[in-house]
Amino acid sequence: MTLVLAAPVIAMVTACATNPATGERQLNLLSEDREIAMGAEAAPQYAEAGGGVLDAPSVDAAVKRVGMTLAKLSERPDLPWEFNVLNSGQINAFALPGGKIFIYRGLLEQMSNEAQLAAVLGHEIGHVTAKHINDRLVHQMVLQGAAAGVAIAGDAADNDYLRYSGAVVSIGGGLTLLKFSRDDESQSDTLGLRYMTEAGYNPVGMLQLMEILDRASAGSGQVEWLASHPLPVTRIEQVAAEIRKDYPGYDEPGRYRFYQERFEREVLEPLSQLPPPPKAQN
Ligand SMILES: [Zn+2]
Repeated sequence: MTLVLAAPVIAMVTACATNPATGERQLNLLSEDREIAMGAEAAPQYAEAGGGVLDAPSVDAAVKRVGMTLAKLSERPDLPWEFNVLNSGQINAFALPGGKIFIYRGLLEQMSNEAQLAAVLGHEIGHVTAKHINDRLVHQMVLQGAAAGVAIAGDAADNDYLRYSGAVVSIGGGLTLLKFSRDDESQSDTLGLRYMTEAGYNPVGMLQLMEILDRASAGSGQVEWLASHPLPVTRIEQVAAEIRKDYPGYDEPGRYRFYQERFEREVLEPLSQLPPPPKAQN
């Protein structure tokens, strides 16, 4: 048994590399190809569960434009990034491995400018560039024992991979419910701030986003994003401190932009004219 496991374990140890987004050493359990395949395989099922892709060309174009702008400024510009809006009233957004990112209509409807949209998309891009799903899988593998990892890390036959990837997707049936660690969240906030400001968006949009989520959860209590992205007060304070320290020009006129009017025209007005999203199944 030990002999059988030895080769993949060595392969895993040597698969440790510095992540260019975070600057941290990381055990890469998923090759880029497998990461992309996993996201592509899971995407249709996630889209369907989220009410399907919204049919609203102007909203879709705005989300794709903002998302692609940030993704191209990230450390993984060449991933097959894809940004879609789901027709659900849920206040949520999530990223699948390989760069497929979904934002729910319900979250867009809470926003008032494009910098807030850039903040949530930048944060989700950060989960992908930092490879947090990979880290969750490493964690899962450690919990389940190395045997489960052989199928992904080793030279497994396609069948084995697919079988394992099925298990991953069902871990991930909770992917959206799977809690990232607080460190993951803070790291994604930092990366999101970096991407959005490089694109010229005001970093205060990130704080506004957190205030929106905080307020919505105090009101209805139904903020699905918070189930997978915990938002303790310290996280908000950390972002505020980071903005003051790293982006001191945030309050200089004209230094960074919010694009409020454009967001109203391209996103909020078209959304207000659509029929309400279908009621959730459960
Ligand atoms: Zn997050």
